[in-house]
Amino acid sequence: MTELVDEAAAGFEARYGYAPSGIWSAPGRVNLIGEHTDYNQGFVLPFAIDRRTFAALALRDDDVVRVSSGASDDAIQLSLADVAAAGGQTGAGALGWAAYPVGVAWALGQVGADLAGLPGFDVHFESDVPVGAGLSSSAALEGSLAVALNEVWRLGFDGHTLVDVCHRAENDFVGAPTGILDQSAALLSEAGAALFIDCRTGEAEPVDLGLDEADLAILVIDTKVTHEHSNGGYRERRESCERAARELGVASLRDASLEMLLAARDTMDGVTYRRARHILTENQRVLDTVAVLREQGPTEIGDLLFASHRSMRDDFEISTPELDLAVEIALNYGAIGARMTGGGFGGSVIALTPTWMISQVQVSIDGAFAEHGYTGPEMFVVWPSRGAGRDR
Ligand code: ADP
Ligand code: MG
Repeated sequence: MTELVDEAAAGFEARYGYAPSGIWSAPGRVNLIGEHTDYNQGFVLPFAIDRRTFAALALRDDDVVRVSSGASDDAIQLSLADVAAAGGQTGAGALGWAAYPVGVAWALGQVGADLAGLPGFDVHFESDVPVGAGLSSSAALEGSLAVALNEVWRLGFDGHTLVDVCHRAENDFVGAPTGILDQSAALLSEAGAALFIDCRTGEAEPVDLGLDEADLAILVIDTKVTHEHSNGGYRERRESCERAARELGVASLRDASLEMLLAARDTMDGVTYRRARHILTENQRVLDTVAVLREQGPTEIGDLLFASHRSMRDDFEISTPELDLAVEIALNYGAIGARMTGGGFGGSVIALTPTWMISQVQVSIDGAFAEHGYTGPEMFVVWPSRGAGRDR
């Protein structure tokens, strides 16, 4: 971690020829449970991980904005006036990856920052959050810049407003539909705890995970099957959920009960029915997981994690053969709970595993993937970490 702070500072100096005034960072996240419930105004339980995106930044004397990243050869320069004038997704496509940070500046303008009266900035990013692995590199990128600009521009926005800013940047500027899960986790998490979020109210509350005390760790198994959030499957699932809510006569599936859904079984098409059933049961599993963590600790949440995976595999149909295999092998070789995490159609599995069984699970998964002819997955342990903030 210290290394990346230094890399961010060095990268800034190499590109811009002077030292940054500060370095801020935001973490990636893993969702412990509560998948696709966020845009249904339901419950989610992510935690920030010990992989972060660092933003080295300095204000300028003019209104120029320059953004660069160690992860990309494409650096962007524009003016704050251009940023302010950008209407939603206009031009975001041409910015490539830089649409995320530019979108953050734009969204700060949307919630009240007077971009015309503020100085421009140079920013350089370095990150060890893998991109597109379901660990939300996008929210880490947004969050690191949001806390930086909030401070250097002296905007005084609270964490919840910055969640809104990053959410707007990704949805309204970049044009990638997401709920508030990723941005809340990146900005509001506390070390050692998961973050219980009510996506209807935006309220977020830390729930101690107690992993150390229980000698448990969370292993991420990145299947390397890449997903494309903004297209196809994700959008289609959202539409199914909206259709189900309409047919049940509620504003969102948050307001529906399993009894209501059962009563509609004969009139609703089978696919929509199963999509809605996943959301309703998943909301309950999040509530149950929070209660179990508080009353009994992490050793007792394994069944809830696997029930969540089954629901995503069979009802929501967002799993892949690779994800299913990783879950099955992890459970057979020592994990006490496992599920795919993130939007689905690839990405990662998390396996709640006694620390002394981590290597056994890893070796078993490597073997099984080789046997199936799948690409070797990347595996690493993640620790629940603090949210966005200043590093130096
Ligand atoms: P993820 O699940 O990792 O959030 P997304 O598709 O939502 O996947 O976001 C990934 C995109 O975010 C990348 O394609 C890139 O445009 C941008 N991104 C994330 N981190 C960085 C970074 N450190 N530098 C440049 N771009 C980044
Ligand atoms: Mg993302």
